[in-house]
Amino acid sequence: MAERSAVSGGVPHYDLAVVGIGIVGALTLYYAVRQNPGRRVLALTHATRGVGATRLSAGFDTPTGRGSAQRALAARSTALFTELSAELPAVPREPVDTYWLVNRDGTAALDESLVGGRRTCPPTPRQRRMLAETFPGLAHGDDEVLLASPPMTVGSAQSLTDLLLDQALGAPGRALWEGFRVASVRRVGKHIELVATDGSRVTADRTVIAPGPWALEGPVARAARDRGARVKKVVAFHVRSRPAPHAPALVLEDEDAFLLPDHNRGHWILSVTSPDWDRGPDGPLVIDARDRSLARALLARHVPGFLPHLSGGRVFSDCFTPGHLPLVDTAGDDGVVMAIGGSGSGYRLAPAMAEDALKLLDGRT
Ligand SMILES: Cc1cc2nc3c(=O)[nH]c(=O)nc-3n(C[C@H](O)[C@H](O)[C@H](O)COP(=O)(O)OP(=O)(O)OC[C@H]3O[C@@H](n4cnc5c(N)ncnc54)[C@H](O)[C@@H]3O)c2cc1C
Repeated sequence: MAERSAVSGGVPHYDLAVVGIGIVGALTLYYAVRQNPGRRVLALTHATRGVGATRLSAGFDTPTGRGSAQRALAARSTALFTELSAELPAVPREPVDTYWLVNRDGTAALDESLVGGRRTCPPTPRQRRMLAETFPGLAHGDDEVLLASPPMTVGSAQSLTDLLLDQALGAPGRALWEGFRVASVRRVGKHIELVATDGSRVTADRTVIAPGPWALEGPVARAARDRGARVKKVVAFHVRSRPAPHAPALVLEDEDAFLLPDHNRGHWILSVTSPDWDRGPDGPLVIDARDRSLARALLARHVPGFLPHLSGGRVFSDCFTPGHLPLVDTAGDDGVVMAIGGSGSGYRLAPAMAEDALKLLDGRT
């Protein structure tokens, strides 16, 4: 890729440097050059393309929010995803019919959490028959209800990220540097200087830092910790039973878990909420006995026919912020913005996070 950075004091210089090329960094780059095609942008990753939480994401997008701020992010992200699909027809994104299992007392809260005027309703007898066929042994307690909602969407977070990076970086003046682990970011005169762990340097007018689960180790570690950010294991099991072509998703709302058909790989994904806090991305990350017994208990209770097919899965770490509300804020300087805290929902909230990061750099809150 042609690189035409300016050079300032012998150090390459860019208009914008983006640290991190997961879904948040890739969207930031894409929006930055769409806004200003002449911008010289530099993407930095400590590893190579495809290393991070994004690669393992299940890509399920349920536009919901726990509070008004998260709902606003979800609504804005939905609008931005729609815009992206219109701009880039290759964006991998499909509707998926979705049903919810929720405690009777929680139905009003569930409806309130759905953005865009969506509401749940009881499934029709035909839908109930389809659910019983799809989820063998489907069962729930007397205090729980099954509800249908308008379709949600599922995408491939990594394919989208690759598509956005190709779009954003495929012109002169734009570059991707792999293996550049940013250790520090600070203002030096008019510029922001980024120094890597091996001492190499680059400068930029402004910087967005989207380090995903590495937030607690890199240049924004202190700012992230001060704002209550932590890291946690995120686990999605595989259920090796082939989903029917239009199989729906089932959200186990009170257990913060879902069953999602993965047609490309020919199995189901069972996403559970792992209780393993403070597990960073570089530590040993495995699906352990505790995760397995959590998954087995969920299936035994709700879809016992899937139990014999539970086998393997994917595990990584993600950065969680208080209230599971992503944090987009300046970090030590007006020219440095961090966008962290996907909190297990970083794919679906990434468009609004990226947009907010650039707005903040431009001085628009
Ligand atoms: C198993 C699993 C399933 C998931 N399922 C869903 C789902 O269904 N729906 C959903 O919305 N979310 C889901 N998520 C969460 C979502 O994937 C993440 O929140 C999101 O991908 C985070 O994206 P990111 O860009 O912030 O971080 P990442 O994708 O982790 O990218 C971080 C980037 O920062 C770079 N980096 C970090 N530190 C440095 C440094 N010091 N110097 C240079 N580069 C650095 C890394 O190299 C990498 O490029 C899931 C996560 C997992 C693990």
